[in-house]
Amino acid sequence: MKTPIPDYLGQILDSVRDRDGGEVADYIPDLATAEPERLAAAVCTVSGNVYSAGDDGDEFTMQSVSKPFVYALALQELGRDAVFDAVGMEPSGEAFHELSLEEGTHRPMNPMINAGAITVNQLINGEDSSVEDRVEVIRGFFSELAARELKVNEWVTDSELEHADRNLSIAHMLRSHGIIRDNAHEAVLSYTRQCAIEVTVRDLAVMTATLANGGVQPVTGRRILNQDVCRLTLSVMSSAGMYDAAGRWMATVGIPAKSGVSGGLIGTLPGQLGIATFSPRLNPQGNSVRGVHIFERLSEEMGLHLMAADPSGTHAVRSIQSDGEDTVINLQGPVNFTAAENILDEISGREFPGERLILDVSRVSGFHRMGRKMVKEGLRRLREDGFEVAIYDPEGVVADLEFSDGTHAESVEER
Ligand code: GLU
Repeated sequence: MKTPIPDYLGQILDSVRDRDGGEVADYIPDLATAEPERLAAAVCTVSGNVYSAGDDGDEFTMQSVSKPFVYALALQELGRDAVFDAVGMEPSGEAFHELSLEEGTHRPMNPMINAGAITVNQLINGEDSSVEDRVEVIRGFFSELAARELKVNEWVTDSELEHADRNLSIAHMLRSHGIIRDNAHEAVLSYTRQCAIEVTVRDLAVMTATLANGGVQPVTGRRILNQDVCRLTLSVMSSAGMYDAAGRWMATVGIPAKSGVSGGLIGTLPGQLGIATFSPRLNPQGNSVRGVHIFERLSEEMGLHLMAADPSGTHAVRSIQSDGEDTVINLQGPVNFTAAENILDEISGREFPGERLILDVSRVSGFHRMGRKMVKEGLRRLREDGFEVAIYDPEGVVADLEFSDGTHAESVEER
């Protein structure tokens, strides 16, 4: 059987082809020559399967789609406190190139607008790094995320630098407040080269799926970022990734996302998917017109809106079986707080015949820290009530069988 997913993506692309509103970005001369009809989409699952359709081999420069990844790299390299000192995390509600800083601190409002992204770029590879070395660290990091060697498009860099007055004025403003140390030209050169790294939608889907997968690149299986770095990056994307359309985007599409003026758009669904689209015509907020429609359709049809989560953890007890002496409580699924609450609720209202209770966790896919703590405390209390308690855990998902009083749960080989 050939998987129908690429055909489905192809149908979605066809459904937006007649939308010819918007204009290609023209403030960067090289982007003004972009072929406006090019259209592509790709999806990468956290299990590492990549599906794509349309012009999925075409390369384009990342532009602002690079911002969340460099933010993640800065968080990984320097830790959150150092990054927070330099740049805030509040949505600005303003256009991407606004000359604005947070009142009082003079930090840029967030890393997704140019002022924040220029600042974050300057954090990479240490304050004294040359532009060349800094860009090389970023290019190397992006290549690791994409699992192939990516290149900087020097034409686009040069073309943008000829008209970089706005970003230069932002860099001068940042330097005058002591937020960056490099001179404005070097800072803008470094940031502009970061924006000119070329990718395909397939690269972007995999890079984005790494954020969705808690920092493990899903195709190579390599851990590249820490989980809390990914969580923070996605949070900032969700509130500030779509410029002044961020609020409407979260309401209608509900997927943390980032757009770029070359027509790229990425979206990441934590724990599930990375999605990328490419179509160069932009709406007045600088977001790809067709890209926005594709995301609206995917979100609606595939049920991807983050705020429309299905109930989870409500059937964490698969069965309770008793032979008169032993009672086996079968658990299933991931055990987070909600699942643990469900388990404790099911157990606490019940009478058990016999003396021994065996908790079978062989079908549990994983324990969240809080889930484990609650389930172990439930077992300890059952033991206090006079039962013998044991755990059947052939895969070792509970990891640590010590109760809060220092005693251990008995582990059984069979049940
Ligand atoms: N390099 C572009 C700029 O700084 C990126 C803007 C964007 O993609 O939104 O103007």
